[in-house]
Amino acid sequence: MAPHANGAVNGSANGSAGQTAAAAPLFTVNSPDVVYTDDEIRSKYVYHTTAVTRTADNKFVAAPKAETYHFKVNRKVGKVGVMLVGWGGNNGTTVTAGLLANRRGLVWDTREGKQEANYYGSVIMGSTIKLGADAKTGEDINVPFHDMLPMVHPNDLVVGGWDISSMNLADAMDRAAVLEPSLKELIRKEMAEMKPLPSIYYPDFIAANQEARADNVIPGSKASWDHVEHLRNDIREFKAKNGLDKVIVLWTANTERYADILPGVNDTADNLINSIKNGHEEVAPSTVFAVASILENAPFINGSPQNTFVPGAVEFAEKNNAFIGGDDFKSGQTKMKSALVDFLINAGIKLTSIASYNHLGNNDGMNLSSQKQFRSKEISKSNVVDDMVAANTVLYKKGEHPDHTVVIKYMPAVGDNKRALDEYYAQIFCGGHQTISIFNVCEDSLLASPLIIDLVIVAEMMTRISWKKEGATDDFKGFHSVLSVLSYMLKAPMTPPGTPVVNALNKQRAALTNIFRACVGLQPENDMTLEHKLF
Ligand code: NAD
Repeated sequence: MAPHANGAVNGSANGSAGQTAAAAPLFTVNSPDVVYTDDEIRSKYVYHTTAVTRTADNKFVAAPKAETYHFKVNRKVGKVGVMLVGWGGNNGTTVTAGLLANRRGLVWDTREGKQEANYYGSVIMGSTIKLGADAKTGEDINVPFHDMLPMVHPNDLVVGGWDISSMNLADAMDRAAVLEPSLKELIRKEMAEMKPLPSIYYPDFIAANQEARADNVIPGSKASWDHVEHLRNDIREFKAKNGLDKVIVLWTANTERYADILPGVNDTADNLINSIKNGHEEVAPSTVFAVASILENAPFINGSPQNTFVPGAVEFAEKNNAFIGGDDFKSGQTKMKSALVDFLINAGIKLTSIASYNHLGNNDGMNLSSQKQFRSKEISKSNVVDDMVAANTVLYKKGEHPDHTVVIKYMPAVGDNKRALDEYYAQIFCGGHQTISIFNVCEDSLLASPLIIDLVIVAEMMTRISWKKEGATDDFKGFHSVLSVLSYMLKAPMTPPGTPVVNALNKQRAALTNIFRACVGLQPENDMTLEHKLF
């Protein structure tokens, strides 16, 4: 498999059954409401919810509600490319190496023995969904998440991207110091042929300590329409050279500082576009990438914490019917937090404080040692328990919150092996206390890489799902531009303007699985198992 001349690594079809033809699915649904054609799966789905009204004496009336939707899934996956912004960083090199290793089915020596490539840590590639119960024995039948709908196989992804550092990906993976030498030797030749495209660099947005690596930049140190056109052209060329049907663009570059939200500058789509054209200094590189991707109809995902999606960028995506998603990969500490806090509060335990401390020694840590960039991370890590606290009106009065602090320190010696120490302090029965201390040592980029893969697979999947309400006269259309269905993989999940944010990990996974189930006409798995209880 020869890398493409522009440095992109080409996918091969050894991971799934062909690039464009609809592969035979692992399961089919036998229902009058589900129709399979060569090109599509069409389903009719009754969405059951509960509508609640508040009475004058502050009581509630709950009424079951049923609405019928029609879903249409395009079964032709096509050839998919992903362009990473920050391709030469720890995440960029690690995910690229991991894809190569999987595609080639590599096995390498480690001091613990042979290690083979896998997709552990990817919810799509490494977990299962309960399809239902065996009609004869009643046993659960679970299927790989990836088989729920016709999704792209990561082995088939074509990868490319940009970096302000010109280093080829072999040298960059050495610089990242994440992977075993024995694995690196097996992929060094291919990685060496991959070279990131030059990128836009506005020094004010990332830490000054990054300047030394910025030797691969497009001229101009603030936003311009030329930059938008340059990036659009990069996306178009990548697509054409690799014969791609679609491209997903994902920001895994340095954390930027927050952009100020200024009336007349970035508050509406028109103002944002004018600000780019006028070279306004408050437009971040990541926002320029978002605008370029939106114009190319390439879904754009932000894996870092900054506010790339200023209100004008969200409106611009909506106007162009383009998909966006963010913010900030949810890999280590926050993933644990959004599972543990959900459990504690739903168990009726009153969490009163969360003290979160981290130290890390990779380039991300160095960038975050600068106050403005740390502030972006602090914000994205801070709100992750709000919805769970607000939902429990028994434990918490309106406006009451557990204390919550987040500290991040740069310690070069530990490299990519991030240490996260968390103390959860809670009130239990009649004046008792519970203290849970967690010491989580996580290899940062090896946690983030499968999340990048999940984000790409799900975002691509969403480009092939359309819906309409029963009886509506308008035609099928896509989901809202802001892909909140990506929330499981993101620390500070974005939702369509004015809609609630869900941080609880279980609910996020349920939304993802149940939307995919609805697309094949299946109800959510309700876990009641009445068949085992009512004899
Ligand atoms: P990294 O510093 O190793 O890589 C970032 C890369 O981006 C560098 O190669 C840098 O040269 C490049 N870059 C900076 N500005 C650029 C620009 N304008 N255009 C193109 N390239 C640019 O960092 P990393 O460890 O790979 O993490 C990447 C991002 O992901 C960080 O913002 C980090 O906070 C975020 N993140 C990582 C994790 C994780 O690794 N577990 C979790 C959550 C969020």
